[in-house]
Amino acid sequence: MSNRTNDPNSHDHRHGPTTLGQRAHVDVKRAHTHNRSRSHSHSAEAGSGHDFDLPVMPAAVDVFDTTLRDGSQQEGLSLTVDDKLRVAEQLDHLGVSFIEGGWPGANPKDEEFFARAPKELNLTTATLVAFGSTRRAGVKAESDETLRQLVNAQTAAVCIVAKSSEMHVVDALRTSLDEAVAMVADSVDFLRRNDLRVFLDAEHFFDGYKANPEFTMRILRAAEEAGAETLVLCDTNGGTLPAEVAQIVPAVLGRFETQVGVHFHNDSGCAVANSLAAVGTGATHVQGCVNGYGERAGNADLAATIPNLSLKLNVRTIPAERLERLTPVSHHIAELVNISPNPQQPYVGSSVFAHKAGLHTSAIARRSDAYEHINPELVGNGTRFVVSEMAGRSTLAFKAAELGLELDSQAMSSVLDSLKRLENAGYHFEVADASLELLLRDATGWKQSYFELDSYRVISDHTGAQSTEATVKVFVGDERQVATAEGNGPVNALDGALRQALGSRYPALDHIHLVDYRVRVLNTSRGTGSITRVLIDSADGETMWTTIGVSENIIEASWQALSDSIVYGLLHAGGAKAPGAKR
Ligand SMILES: [Zn+2]
Repeated sequence: MSNRTNDPNSHDHRHGPTTLGQRAHVDVKRAHTHNRSRSHSHSAEAGSGHDFDLPVMPAAVDVFDTTLRDGSQQEGLSLTVDDKLRVAEQLDHLGVSFIEGGWPGANPKDEEFFARAPKELNLTTATLVAFGSTRRAGVKAESDETLRQLVNAQTAAVCIVAKSSEMHVVDALRTSLDEAVAMVADSVDFLRRNDLRVFLDAEHFFDGYKANPEFTMRILRAAEEAGAETLVLCDTNGGTLPAEVAQIVPAVLGRFETQVGVHFHNDSGCAVANSLAAVGTGATHVQGCVNGYGERAGNADLAATIPNLSLKLNVRTIPAERLERLTPVSHHIAELVNISPNPQQPYVGSSVFAHKAGLHTSAIARRSDAYEHINPELVGNGTRFVVSEMAGRSTLAFKAAELGLELDSQAMSSVLDSLKRLENAGYHFEVADASLELLLRDATGWKQSYFELDSYRVISDHTGAQSTEATVKVFVGDERQVATAEGNGPVNALDGALRQALGSRYPALDHIHLVDYRVRVLNTSRGTGSITRVLIDSADGETMWTTIGVSENIIEASWQALSDSIVYGLLHAGGAKAPGAKR
């Protein structure tokens, strides 16, 4: 790790950008106008501490998010028009340059999106892009329905896909190579005459280039001559590897004046690496999806591409001061698309700066960069110490310090005893940080006083239609509240009843909701008499937390996890002060 200290984003200079341990030397002749200035080789800088050349990187790249178009091809991902508008807001809040909103010619939902977007979206950093394809074979651009829909979408920019692989033109399109080139030229020309900025997605570019480079170049040339703004090289099947990218992208850059961009799918697990390889050779436009959504293995994950470029390669992406929005935006979008965030997702996952007990935790407490590749706060994430039954006193002390809690040695011993006893009973605090925090707070003498359970009852019925009804009786302060709610299952019904019982007392509850519910049966040898462990993930739009419950009774286990979830959410909502709460 280098010790460079000129990163404007770095709050902690121990976490400067790393260097590439290679002697890459790329001669990029031209840059797109607004990216013309380049950062110089870092090796000459004072204090850099190394004596090899770094690749010449562009000073900046345009980040183009396609979550709403390509990302929504992911199996199981379906967005309403409202969802799409909310995702676009998040992307703009993050600060990407372009948001591809959908394909107005292909489905009515996307048409509605483009109709509502100008009125309902107030984009400040991003430009909305409509997606479509070139004209069909044998049809005039003026009379092509898809192109007309693109113009009607009334965005400032459009992105059209063109087949750039001979095989696909001949076998899929069943037309001549000359006609395929004319389709690009006519379509770009038509859109330019309608005052639109045009991006050309060259589909199957890398595979096409390997088979017939001359034809792929003809496609790009036609787009350039007709006035396309960016030539986007697409790895549609996602099978390309970084070394190939590092050869092919410069071959294109050497022959065109137009900006070159890239679009990688992740079928080889290399979409992010390929994007970096392309930028390393001079591409200045990168497409992908926040969280890497997309069909099959997904698209390049912008939540990794962006910080890799900004923090490690010193290439400007989103505005520097917004990098810390990366983790909250990633989680917020995951919620909007209703897919649980992957805890191991690089940079933004909840586990990626989590450290388990032992030597490791003592070391990281002394030097936080010893086991972390960047300062997690730079991307809005944070270091976590994970506590399990193997955890010793020191890990627990770090955890308490992290939460700002003071535990004397007696309290510490009692927490350790409780942890041992509870983990033996089936609790697993390693994955339930929020419940652990409540346990530690209890040890300091704190008692949650948002509500006190008097009783609950759940009735599940299967007479004709299935129904579940829960009644919850709680004390809120001195008042006894009773509420009944129906739900599509016991947890849902209990959640509904508890929220009703707490009523308008805690407005913050409106923002807290359950994201995921997982049940695991422990010691299965006992069949239905075994112990059930319930984990509940909850979120408030910015952070996520996990709580746990364990019991022989699945409903009791669920109640424990649910009750912890609500208490934790209220505790951290700030605004809602519990009656008589000791904090
Ligand atoms: Zn794609």
